[in-house]
Amino acid sequence: MSDRMPGREVQRVIRHHIAGRSSGAAERTGTVWNPATGEASDEVAFASAGEVESAIAAATAALPGWRATGLIKRADVFFRMRHLLVERQDELAAIITREHGKVLSDAKGEISRGIENVEFAAGLVHLLKGEHSEQVARGVDVHSVKQPVGVVGCITPFNFPVMVPLWMAASAIACGNTVVLKPSEKDPSASLFLAQLFEEAGLPAGVLNVVHGDKVAVDTILDSPDVRAVSFVGSTPVARSIYEHATAQGKRVQALGGAKNHMIVMPDADLDAAADAAVSAAYGSAGERCMAISVLVPVGEATADALVAKVAARMGALRIGDGTDPSSEMGPLITREHRDRVASYVTGASAEGATVVVDGTTDEFDGDGFFVGVSLVDHVRPGMKVYDDEIFGPVLSVVRADSYDDAVALVNANRYANGTAIFTRDGGTARAFEIDIEVGMVGVNVPLPVPIGAYSFGGWKQSLFGDSHIYGPESVHFYTRSKVVTTRWPEPSESQIDLGFPSNH
Ligand code: NAD
Repeated sequence: MSDRMPGREVQRVIRHHIAGRSSGAAERTGTVWNPATGEASDEVAFASAGEVESAIAAATAALPGWRATGLIKRADVFFRMRHLLVERQDELAAIITREHGKVLSDAKGEISRGIENVEFAAGLVHLLKGEHSEQVARGVDVHSVKQPVGVVGCITPFNFPVMVPLWMAASAIACGNTVVLKPSEKDPSASLFLAQLFEEAGLPAGVLNVVHGDKVAVDTILDSPDVRAVSFVGSTPVARSIYEHATAQGKRVQALGGAKNHMIVMPDADLDAAADAAVSAAYGSAGERCMAISVLVPVGEATADALVAKVAARMGALRIGDGTDPSSEMGPLITREHRDRVASYVTGASAEGATVVVDGTTDEFDGDGFFVGVSLVDHVRPGMKVYDDEIFGPVLSVVRADSYDDAVALVNANRYANGTAIFTRDGGTARAFEIDIEVGMVGVNVPLPVPIGAYSFGGWKQSLFGDSHIYGPESVHFYTRSKVVTTRWPEPSESQIDLGFPSNH
């Protein structure tokens, strides 16, 4: 809801993109902040139910034309989109950094991972092939086809304003669907830029519509009988409620939630490499990544003492500042409230019995940006808030384990199961980990095992509600319905009457 700052000139109202046009009465708005300066930069329109319904109507109207568009012509849009994304990446990265705060190099990294999804979608001619069996019985053939599900609702979080919309929209559109995208209200501009770029690439108006807003917009998408499938990425409580709400109405739903990602370090690991990886994966993007490492699990006291010292030694050198400054390695958090919430976990950790080795909450920064320093908390245990909650900030906890079995049991007992990693030089241990660990994405000496675009992304347990992982091959399954056609072209002289159940023998 609008909380305009008194006396501040708001530059513009960010509006919806419906049927290729900018629209929005903006009766309700929210503030978009520049997290690096702490200033309100824009207002964003919050869609009414009627505005969302008109976006759904635009997507419904565009559906017959788009699904009838030849596959080669459809693929052409993605080839052109890839080219435009590469060409305009500096502009897009600047938009991400202005509204999200992450450093420009990280924003470009996000764009490059989103481009992988566009590249995957460009292969749609191959991806949408069905199967054919000739002569399953005399004169009878069978083939299967993959048809679009219809209008797809896509609801995305603040932390990857380009990559996550592309995780969903690229595959959904490639499969012949049309989309209503509701990006995070905290950094809404990147989605608009993507929609405009897609149209520049040849996507017809109405195939990708963007509506901004809050629960009103989301509920209208979930309640509409014209929306056939919903892709959601965000926090676990919202993911769960969206899954329950939309599946109760017969929709196909994939709802990806939060995470608590553990990195196990075995005594035989290269501890310098492990410390570099832990620092990169815990503090990159200020810990606001669903694949960020938030718990370090050294096995054995000697490993733990050495690793904690190595990680702490590296932390002091990290350069924290405005993401537009090329020397910054880490930017601010998304909002002031989130920054304060993250800091509260560190300040509360000692009272819970943990040891704060590096306290980033006391770091001082110029200006009013939403900055916090990096923190390291040792001797953390399950049952402490700093361990149990998803913090989503630059706070790395250390839970010491006595053995490989204890470390695996810790990870498997966690309610989240998005990503995990093991650092070891032993192939047998790594192989056992791959088999034993109950987590959706696993890294061996790789701290952020985000699958390439040709595989699918998704966690287990409370990190994903639904059956399908996102992007890659599972997305083709999610965004299409299969139909199996049995055909018979009998000889004209054959009798056509048979009251028995059709048998292929
Ligand atoms: P969030 O759940 O607050 O918001 C996500 C989306 O849901 C936004 O578009 C928001 O407007 C909407 N929303 C928020 N509250 C709602 C409600 N009550 N009803 C309906 N819609 C609502 O998440 P966030 O803070 O934007 O993003 C951070 C979270 O996303 C973290 O928990 C992170 O782990 C998670 N995440 C998960 C993945 C993954 O792949 N599993 C990827 C990125 C982020």
